[in-house]
Amino acid sequence: MEKIAVIGAGVSGLSIAQLLKDKYSVKLFEKASRPGGLIKCEIVDGNLYHTVGGHVFNSKYPAVLDWFWQFFDRENEFSKTPRNASIALDNSRMVGYPIENHAYMLEEKTTKAFIQDLLTLSKQTGSAPDNFEEFLRTRFGNTLYDLYFQPYNEKVWRRNLKQVPLSWLEGKLPMPTIEEMIYNNFNHAKEENMVHSSFYYPKQNGSQFIANRLAENLDIAYDQDITSIVKKDIKWIVNGETFDKVIFCGNIKDFPNIFKNSLNTASFVKPIEALESHGTTSVLCEIDTNPYSWIYLPNRAYSSHRIICTGNFAMSNNNGTKLTGTIEFTDYISRDEITTNLAKMPFTPKHIAHQYTEYTYPIQEKTTKDLIHELKQAVAKEQVFLLGRFAEWEYYNMDAAMKAAMDLATRIEKNKLR
Ligand SMILES: Cc1cc2nc3c(=O)[nH]c(=O)nc-3n(C[C@H](O)[C@H](O)[C@H](O)COP(=O)(O)OP(=O)(O)OC[C@H]3O[C@@H](n4cnc5c(N)ncnc54)[C@H](O)[C@@H]3O)c2cc1C
Repeated sequence: MEKIAVIGAGVSGLSIAQLLKDKYSVKLFEKASRPGGLIKCEIVDGNLYHTVGGHVFNSKYPAVLDWFWQFFDRENEFSKTPRNASIALDNSRMVGYPIENHAYMLEEKTTKAFIQDLLTLSKQTGSAPDNFEEFLRTRFGNTLYDLYFQPYNEKVWRRNLKQVPLSWLEGKLPMPTIEEMIYNNFNHAKEENMVHSSFYYPKQNGSQFIANRLAENLDIAYDQDITSIVKKDIKWIVNGETFDKVIFCGNIKDFPNIFKNSLNTASFVKPIEALESHGTTSVLCEIDTNPYSWIYLPNRAYSSHRIICTGNFAMSNNNGTKLTGTIEFTDYISRDEITTNLAKMPFTPKHIAHQYTEYTYPIQEKTTKDLIHELKQAVAKEQVFLLGRFAEWEYYNMDAAMKAAMDLATRIEKNKLR
């Protein structure tokens, strides 16, 4: 049996290992002491803490859903919950999400200005937008841009939205037509009636439950930070063991150094160094009781952009009667800044725990896909493969990471490696 080393036991590494384990001898190496990567959770004072985000699961890919549900008892181990997102424009005013379908909930003068914007936009013909600001202004109008899209997205991306190329957000942008926005406002369309309007969430232990189950029956060496992989004859040596193939699911920034003695990646080093990303500070808090799953925060008075009401996803996530949630800040903020911010925020958040994670959002520039593609082609010849959010610098959700693993498994099995 061919031997395969998988570096990293996040969703990507666990998925590819499960997919290949019956036909190959697969061993995973993980630097943390448990599986999950970004989807890891902890228990703090009896509350479930998603140390990054507040991971929920769904997929538009039937093949991914079929594959995923083989591992779980959907009825007994998961809840299916409707999305119920809302926007806190200020500390007392909640507006439905997405805002363009809920303009009827805004102040009268704002609703009227939005109607004027739609009339103006309906007459405009122009070239395709070149950047994120142009896209938002030409799709939703200046009123919603100034009120919500600009302040919210500047908190998320921490830069002038003119400098955000649309390639960053490919496939992630809402594209409602003017007719759809008018129709949805007339009909008070509910988010829960829209496509992908619900998600699955484990009844116990949050997304750690998913990671733990996917890790079952796999050979995983924990607490192994792989810093060097070398080639001997035609085999790869990882931690003293010999393998035929290596699937790298770590961070591409580490890749050239790990393989420096055996792969010629010299021409990729500088462009890889130049890749940009954001980190996230995730703050577990007690919050006021509310019916929401996510609360979006455009208000410039504080720098957090989102509360994920994880305590509403499963009652077992809360210790007792107080609701808990994760409050997200893009990049690092200190404990003192967290305190100052929480004091200004709606839903009276009280700090329980926080963690900063350096790599959470890869930023795709126009050239990123080509760069990664070229590197993948070059190293596949040597039986080395890149897979995962930071290995491929792709804005993958869990299901997209699983789909990428399924595609790679098929290519490896069919020996179509390039
Ligand atoms: C804030 C936020 C919210 C999100 N919310 C959702 C959501 O609700 N639903 C959803 O589907 N997706 C969500 N996602 C996306 C989801 O987190 C990712 O798609 C998924 O976790 C990516 O898994 P991965 O295995 O590719 O990467 P990672 O989770 O980063 O895993 C990489 C693993 O490799 C290990 N590793 C790295 N280098 C080495 C090394 N040298 N040696 C050994 N081990 C190494 C790491 O420790 C880690 O365990 C969210 C992401 C973020 C940032």
